[in-house]
Amino acid sequence: TLNAMIERIDRAFKTQQQFVADASHEIRTPLTIIQAELELALKKTNSPGIKESIQVSLQELEHLTKLTAGLLTLARLDASEESLDFKALRIDEVMMEAVQSLKSLALTKNIHLELNVEENESDDGLPVEVLGDREKIKLMLINLIENAIKYSPENSLVRIQLSQLSQQQVKILITDEGPGIPSIIQPHIFDRFYRAPTIRNKIPGSGLGLASVQKLIKMHKWTISMDSNPGQGSVFKIILPKLD
Ligand code: ADP
Repeated sequence: TLNAMIERIDRAFKTQQQFVADASHEIRTPLTIIQAELELALKKTNSPGIKESIQVSLQELEHLTKLTAGLLTLARLDASEESLDFKALRIDEVMMEAVQSLKSLALTKNIHLELNVEENESDDGLPVEVLGDREKIKLMLINLIENAIKYSPENSLVRIQLSQLSQQQVKILITDEGPGIPSIIQPHIFDRFYRAPTIRNKIPGSGLGLASVQKLIKMHKWTISMDSNPGQGSVFKIILPKLD
């Protein structure tokens, strides 16, 4: 009886996760149409008042679109826990791809993205291979680097580093020169929908990025931690095992 009950609860939970994923997916199409219509209306009107209203609506729409995308990512991760595509891969290559895809965003704030990969001395300079889902690792890194860019001042430096921690482990550091994260809010930043009160109304976001990162880290059985001195930037550290 107990087993049957657990099975029923599990099925209901999975149905609910699928519902959130389907709902987020369905919401995306009307959002795209609304955006196209608003942009068209903006071009057609000469009234400053209407222009302003449309611009505010477009900003809110952008926020809603990001929120929906974040929800869809998390719901898909929740629903697909067992279906990760684990393969041996070069972690430095995935880091490079993530950096490449954010270059133009960094450019908008004149932020320098520096990728630093330490030679693997213990293995005669062979590249570091790890086991993981390539696309999901890229998503994880993109979320962290995007945050570093988003919260950093213009003309600053964001550093992405790969180095040996021990014979068996490597670490990835993502360091920025942003405002840092006060210790009082540090325990909450990986929570779903959490956003620091100081930036909530200033910098757009969904509060779902780090929740996805943490979920992906857990699925890979890696660890993530962060260190920050307010005013002096933040460092996010991922520790992961090397493939033998
Ligand atoms: P979002 O960036 O969409 O708000 P996240 O889940 O990615 O959501 O991050 C949660 C919160 O953690 C952010 O709202 C911000 O307050 C804080 N945060 C994350 N990364 C950084 C960073 N590099 N520098 C400063 N604050 C950060």
